[in-house]
Amino acid sequence: MTSATATPLDRTTDTPHAPDTAPLNWRHSFAELGPAFYTELQPAPLPAPYWVGRSQAMARELGLGEAWMESADALAMLTGNQLAPGSRPLASVYSGHQFGVWAGQLGDGRAILLGELQTPQGPQEIQLKGAGRTPYSRMGDGRAVLRSSIREFLCSEAMHGLGIPSTRALCITGSDAAVRREEIETAAVVTRVAPSFIRFGHFEHFSYSEQPVQLKALADHVIDRFYPACREASQPYAALLQAVSERTAHLMAAWQAVGFCHGVMNTDNMSILGLTIDYGPFQFLDAFDPGHVCNHSDAEGRYAYNRQPNMGYWNLFCLGQALLPLMDSQEQALAALESYKTVFPAALAARMRAKLGLPEEQPQDLALVENTFKLLAANRVDYTIFWRHLCSFTPQSGHEAVRDLFFDRESFNAWALQYSERLTHVDSGLRADLMLKNNPRFVLRNHLGEEAIRAAKLKDFSGVNTLLSVLQTPFDEHEAHERLAGFPPDWASSIEISCSS
Ligand code: AMP
Ligand code: MG
Repeated sequence: MTSATATPLDRTTDTPHAPDTAPLNWRHSFAELGPAFYTELQPAPLPAPYWVGRSQAMARELGLGEAWMESADALAMLTGNQLAPGSRPLASVYSGHQFGVWAGQLGDGRAILLGELQTPQGPQEIQLKGAGRTPYSRMGDGRAVLRSSIREFLCSEAMHGLGIPSTRALCITGSDAAVRREEIETAAVVTRVAPSFIRFGHFEHFSYSEQPVQLKALADHVIDRFYPACREASQPYAALLQAVSERTAHLMAAWQAVGFCHGVMNTDNMSILGLTIDYGPFQFLDAFDPGHVCNHSDAEGRYAYNRQPNMGYWNLFCLGQALLPLMDSQEQALAALESYKTVFPAALAARMRAKLGLPEEQPQDLALVENTFKLLAANRVDYTIFWRHLCSFTPQSGHEAVRDLFFDRESFNAWALQYSERLTHVDSGLRADLMLKNNPRFVLRNHLGEEAIRAAKLKDFSGVNTLLSVLQTPFDEHEAHERLAGFPPDWASSIEISCSS
């Protein structure tokens, strides 16, 4: 399987390379944790792969030249058909709480880690999602379908464009190989990129299965690589829990502010780095509905939009429980979790102030934010369009462009008065600038993804590529793509996204 030709993913080669195909070094920090953490295995090849989409921005960050990203070697390696020289493929084991219930052992059922590449931003792990069965596949086939792979690829890069912490995506490759879900679909592989794919569930795994040595090794690995300041604390593991709580609080605030619903916030889908991870039935809100449930399989609405911050805390509590063997007392863990309760509201308030164009905090801001949410909910206003239109709100004018989004004009007028008063001493240039950087014009709405998916199933990948380029800079105007900033069509509300991927 190993390629005989020199490639940029080859650290052993002596062949001289053009600057854009310089060789890169693989490292294997996760593998160094030892065999209790994973199973080494080879990806399973897919027949006749083809490119579906590539993020040149991600490629550049990894130091992968454009020419290499178009090569047959790259296509084969990133589909799992050819071993990247120097890589060391493995699937990791983890456990987790799914929909509030302990689910026992899970693991990378269809994700294969190749190792990590050094980049100016630090080491980045490279993972192939959908590259075949692993010992943790349970009843699954180890594959991912084109539909869900496009959603994950686009949303990873869209989140990055929005400035929201997320795992990234380098590319998608597709194959005509059939994959059975509710219907027959085709296979795809997404190459995911992140400093680490370690989840809360990794800690739960070694804690519940009573492997204290491994639990400590995992915590030390995470502290030394990603939270070095915790090492200086009197209780490094409590400090770790607190640091993760704070990153998670910031992530939840970012999701709420942009109107993102994750859909499956199980502890195995929670990143120890506070990244958005495992894109499944996610959705950006169209009309603002606080109780919106995007996952069709979530009958009880456990992961409804307005429950996400509480679910984030619930998951951190599970992480705290898993870390207890490394702490002196339960009180220590509880104290470490406390910060979530102050960091989350403060982070959300800061984000909402920025969306409203208020550079400085004032006591009445909380009430204004609450009234805004209430007004949007009562009128089921399109969340993204409201905020973008609000960027051109001027207290003096009639602000029709915003008012027209509301059927209850009286309530809007009352709100507009409150907002106008708050803006009295705010510089309008400063405000507009702040708002245009915090209210995206473009988000990956379900129907936009769906249109790109339908075309891609017919081998037209232009929709995927257009969306990618627009969503990577979602605060820009992109005049030529006005349509992508419009209201969702009627059929958008009938799209049903479930866990099936
Ligand atoms: P998710 O809720 O999508 O994060 O998946 C939960 C678990 O099921 C994870 O351990 C996945 O690796 C695994 N899984 C999901 N789909 C498949 C599949 N098609 N084949 C193998 N494992 C899967
Ligand atoms: Mg998962």
